[in-house]
Amino acid sequence: MNAPAELAVIKQHLIDPEICIRCNTCEAICPVQAITHDNVNYVVDASKCNLCMDCISPCPTGSIDNWRTMPRLRAYTPEEQLTWDELPAELPAEELEGLAEAGGDVAVALAPAATPAVVKDPSGAEVFNSSTFGSTLPPWSAAHVYTNLYGPKAAQKTITATVVGNVRVTEVGKTAGSDYDTHHIVLDFGAMPFPVLEGQSIGVVPPGVDDIGRTHHARQYSIASPRNGERPGYNNLSLTIKRVLQDHDGEPVRGVASNFMCDLQVGDKVEVIGPFGTSFLMPNHPKSNIVMICTGTGSAPMRAMTEWRRRLRASGKFEGGKLMLFFGARSQEELPYFGPLQNLPKDFIDTNFAFSRTPGAPKRYVQDAMRERAADLALLLQDPNTYFYVCGLKSMEEGVVLALRDVAQGAGLNWDSIGPALKREGRLHLETY
Ligand SMILES: Cc1cc2nc3c(=O)[nH]c(=O)nc-3n(C[C@H](O)[C@H](O)[C@H](O)COP(=O)(O)OP(=O)(O)OC[C@H]3O[C@@H](n4cnc5c(N)ncnc54)[C@H](O)[C@@H]3O)c2cc1C
Ligand code: SF4
Ligand code: SF4
Repeated sequence: MNAPAELAVIKQHLIDPEICIRCNTCEAICPVQAITHDNVNYVVDASKCNLCMDCISPCPTGSIDNWRTMPRLRAYTPEEQLTWDELPAELPAEELEGLAEAGGDVAVALAPAATPAVVKDPSGAEVFNSSTFGSTLPPWSAAHVYTNLYGPKAAQKTITATVVGNVRVTEVGKTAGSDYDTHHIVLDFGAMPFPVLEGQSIGVVPPGVDDIGRTHHARQYSIASPRNGERPGYNNLSLTIKRVLQDHDGEPVRGVASNFMCDLQVGDKVEVIGPFGTSFLMPNHPKSNIVMICTGTGSAPMRAMTEWRRRLRASGKFEGGKLMLFFGARSQEELPYFGPLQNLPKDFIDTNFAFSRTPGAPKRYVQDAMRERAADLALLLQDPNTYFYVCGLKSMEEGVVLALRDVAQGAGLNWDSIGPALKREGRLHLETY
């Protein structure tokens, strides 16, 4: 069979703009930078995509798993895709045949994994690619998940939740004049089915339309409560949402969904889609250790897992596996749930903080705290019952993976076998944004 680039007809990889929640996961993961976006759509460049399939399972919505048989010379360009509101239909067979024959070869490039993802060297010699390390498989003892029960392609497009709680969870946001603001928001689903597990996320659909008159796309938020509800036995869940007041370049902006959510009052209604997520799930077997590494609102899924273990322990149903937390923020005042975390028993969770902007103190990041605990982490790395979770700022991924590598090597362990095993066995999970 010819190489895909020489074929007259290709299976073109496309993203469904009606379902995509613009979470950036696919763009971050694509090893050949085939995915780009503007303010409207995420698109795949057919001239770069090598059908490696790395982006398929991490996409929370399934919107990335779309294919059209196309004459190669007529493949939809990225510029064309950026204007779409919906995916075009398949070309009629006659049209396709005529165009393909004009190209001289009617073989279709169907085979996935034409080029395997490049395994990068974590020494920094090549660009860090999280898909080399992050697992797309859940722990073997994870509970079964439900996904996409509500969404553009589901029988019911959205589910309406009622706000039953909204409180600030950072000290700094409580100070008058401070713009830093992170909220703990509790949503109740009443009698409607919305089963979730720790580590999953939901999509919030902000009301109104964007600046080109389209309904806002959904924004993704990690679930911060355990599977049996923020309030045990109730059909509700919590989110940890930081109000976005600056864009990534530091320019003032009012983020659409985060501001909408942080301003909600008890009794207000929110349109939700989801749930999402099939791999960032907690292990359920009693000897499993959980190492949680997070910054800012990346604490949300860690809070969910910790609280579920705490409830199990309180009911006498879980004794065994260790919990270790590395939590980074600019300062103690900016760290969500700092107070409640302090109240957890030391024999239940081993908590390590890292603050990067404490006046008079040197900058400390989560990877620095990890290196300080190298002896304990090395023991955990050797235990096949240990699962690592990383959530928060995108920029933390590389530092955390390099710290794990250094811990392994410092203890005389073989990272070249441990690193791939963590990925293969669903034991290292990276979820950053
Ligand atoms: C898997 C996943 C889980 C997530 N979980 C959480 C969570 O638990 N809590 C949470 O608060 N957020 C979470 N997010 C981020 C969230 O989905 C939104 O991106 C965020 O709330 C901003 O949305 P917005 O509508 O307020 O801003 P937008 O209106 O979408 O953006 C406004 C401007 O700000 C920029 N911008 C967007 N986000 C940020 C940011 N964080 N910092 C600086 N600039 C930004 C945008 O590029 C744009 O220029 C998660 C994202 C992903 C992909
Ligand atoms: S299939 Fe591979 S190359 Fe193509 S867009 Fe997805 S990750 Fe990138
Ligand atoms: S929803 Fe899927 S296709 Fe859309 S940006 Fe996220 S990963 Fe990419």
